[in-house]
Amino acid sequence: MRVAVAGAGGFIGGWLARRLIFEGHEVVCADIKPLSEWYQVHENSDNRILDLSKYESCLSFVSGAEQVYNLAADMGGMGFIETHKAECMLSVLINTHLLMASREFSVKRFFFASSACVYNASKQNTNDVVGLKEEDAYPAMPEDGYGWEKLFSERMCRHFYEDYGLETRVARYHNIYGPQGTWDGGREKAPAALSRKVASAKLSGKNEIEIWGDGEQARSFTFIDDCIEGTLRLMNSDVREPLNIGSDEMVTINRLVEILEEIAGIQLLRRYNLDAPKGVRGRNSDNTRVRELLGWSPITGLEKGLGETYRWIESQVHSSMKPLT
Ligand code: NAD
Repeated sequence: MRVAVAGAGGFIGGWLARRLIFEGHEVVCADIKPLSEWYQVHENSDNRILDLSKYESCLSFVSGAEQVYNLAADMGGMGFIETHKAECMLSVLINTHLLMASREFSVKRFFFASSACVYNASKQNTNDVVGLKEEDAYPAMPEDGYGWEKLFSERMCRHFYEDYGLETRVARYHNIYGPQGTWDGGREKAPAALSRKVASAKLSGKNEIEIWGDGEQARSFTFIDDCIEGTLRLMNSDVREPLNIGSDEMVTINRLVEILEEIAGIQLLRRYNLDAPKGVRGRNSDNTRVRELLGWSPITGLEKGLGETYRWIESQVHSSMKPLT
């Protein structure tokens, strides 16, 4: 099958393309970044540099594909999305034009990567929150900017099915992490940012770490292998409603740091920056529906997933350090 992966130069798109190639599909990859900046460049795919916010680029990309996965977006962790709301919302052009092009070429199935940021903020005010169920996205009060774009694009997917018969699938990802992702530069998310800080402290011998907020914000984190498995199961299912693809193992940021310290074999002095962006107080995934409908649950525990991620990031930090003169 010919499959098009938008955002294949990024973290999740790179791993998804790898798996689809492994499964024997003919894969077309596209990203706006130059190839030298792609996190993974696969030899056995057709790799294209395209700005998919432009309709013409989407037409050439989607032409001939049976399935289209949209993993392309201007996104990042809290530090990025709280300060780049317009930029995040402009990703609406990518999904809209990909949907239009997919309709034009009668694509059989379309996947959109949505986010836990669509959930109503009033359900995430405390750090002992119960898991978010799919229906908790309404009444709508998503994360400003980024979350609104995701919620709007989810609805575009729904209406492209209702009005034009285009089969669409929507995953609400909850904090995906793993190797070969963004780990510095300002767009990284908590697991990668904290792994980098722990690795830098270890390698430089400066045994301190800055933590955003008081560290008691709670989240769940999903390892990339589980995310890819869930994504493929959803795409190949007949579920047309958005589904959580997330872990329901909720931990505080302080616990995350503790696990990373254990992995790195050090203990750090913690400095809390209470003025830094922190996001909602608590967020977890309720996996009841996804378990029922797809038989999917994440299988990678946090210690194992963070171990793999930390070791990869430590090697990146190590090779980016200036040699001593
Ligand atoms: P990423 O930033 O690593 O990948 C996104 C890719 O999209 C980047 O390589 C970027 O260059 C590309 N892109 C941006 N604008 C483009 C354009 N105009 N044309 C073509 N390519 C463009 O992010 P990711 O973590 O791999 O996330 C993939 C998708 O999953 C995004 O839609 C994101 O919002 C969603 N998501 C991710 C997470 C997570 O924890 N990583 C959580 C929720 C939702």
